[in-house]
Amino acid sequence: MISNAPALKQRALAAIDAMRDEWIRISAAIHAKPETAFQEFQSAALLCETLESHGFSVERGVGGLETAFRAEARGKGQGPTIALLAEYDALPELGHACGHNLIATSAIAAGIAVRQVLGELPGCVLVIGAPAEEGGGGKLLLLERGVFHAVDAAMMVHPSAWTMVARTSLASMRLTVEFTGKASHAAAAPEDGINALEAVILTFNNINALRLHLKPDARVHGIITHGGTAANIVPEYAAALFSVRAAKKSYAEQVLQRVIQCAQGAGVATGAQLEYIVEPGYADMIPNQAMARAFAENWRAISVQVNEPRPNERMGSTDMGNVSHAVPAIHPYIAIAPDGTAGHTVEFREAAISAAGQAGMLNAAKGMAMTAIDLLSDPPLMQQVTQEFAATAK
Ligand SMILES: [Zn+2]
Repeated sequence: MISNAPALKQRALAAIDAMRDEWIRISAAIHAKPETAFQEFQSAALLCETLESHGFSVERGVGGLETAFRAEARGKGQGPTIALLAEYDALPELGHACGHNLIATSAIAAGIAVRQVLGELPGCVLVIGAPAEEGGGGKLLLLERGVFHAVDAAMMVHPSAWTMVARTSLASMRLTVEFTGKASHAAAAPEDGINALEAVILTFNNINALRLHLKPDARVHGIITHGGTAANIVPEYAAALFSVRAAKKSYAEQVLQRVIQCAQGAGVATGAQLEYIVEPGYADMIPNQAMARAFAENWRAISVQVNEPRPNERMGSTDMGNVSHAVPAIHPYIAIAPDGTAGHTVEFREAAISAAGQAGMLNAAKGMAMTAIDLLSDPPLMQQVTQEFAATAK
C-alpha cells in the first residue's frame, strides 16, 4: 500500500477541477455533433487529440475499428493495468439521448488526472475508446481482437436518473426474421399470393401470446423493417428485427428459442418461407463487488449520494457486460436527470448537456480517478478484485 494515496487522490481531484472548462467544452462538442455507431470520427479524433496533448501515447483504429482507440500512460515500474472506457456513439435521429458524450469526457478526464500523479505509482492507465455501444457491440469486437489483453480491471460510468455503483444489466440477443411469400394482385388474384407481411404480423401476435408465460425479467421487443411495397400487391417479402433479453444469458437463450418457434408457427400458418439470423448479443453485467465497494467509498468521500439498485429495477443491456465476463469490471451510474427520467428520450438528451449533466460528468471522472489510484496503490485490494473475479467467472 502506497501511504500517500490520499494526497495523490487530492491532486487528481484538483486536476479535474482545474480543467473543468475543457471537459465541458469537449462534452458539449461531442453532444453538438452526434455520430452513430462506427461513424464517430470527429468524436474519436477530439478525444485522441486531447489525450495526446496531455501526455498519453495513443493508438488509433485499434481492433480494426477506425473509431476505436487505445491511449496509454505508464507509471513507475510494474503494476496493474487499469482501463477506463469511453463510449461516444449517439442514437439514430435522437442524438446523444444516452449521454455518451459525458461517458467519453469523464473517461479521458479521469485518465488525464491519474496520469498527473502516475509518476508516483506503479502500473499503467489506459483509456480505451469503444465505438458502437448502441448496436454494433464495439466492446465485443475489441475483446475478440485482443484490445483488452493484459487489462487487470476496467471501469466506466454511465449517466442515469439514479446514482448506483453495482447494478447488473440484461443479457441480450438480436433476431432478424425474414419471410418470403409470393406476390400477386391483392384485389384481383389474392388466392395466388402468399402474404409475407401476415407472417410477420402473426409472429408478433404469437410472441404476445407467449409473453404471459415468460419470467418477469424477460424482454422481447421488435420492429417491422419491411412490410411490402404497395397496398395492391400481396407482400412477397417482409422482415422484422427483435431484441430478446433476460437477466441471465441462459434464460435469454431459452426465450430466444420460443420466439423462433413463434416465427416458425407464423410461417406454417401463412405458407411463407422463414429465414432467421441470430446475432450474438450483450452479456449480463457482473459488477466486481470489491471494485464497487472502493468506488462507492470514493464517491461518498466527495459527497455523491450512492443509492442501492431498487427492487424490480428497470434496465437495459450494455456491451460492458461482455467486458465484465472477461476482466473485473464495474459500470456505475450517475444521476444527471430527475428520478424517473428515461434514457433514449429528448429529456435525457437535454440533461446530457445541462449543468446537472456536467456536474455528474465531473463526479464520474473523480470517482474513476480515485478508484484507479486505489487499484494502483493498494496491492491487497487488487488481489481481492482478482480473486473475486476468478471465483465468479466460471
Ligand atoms: Zn448508453
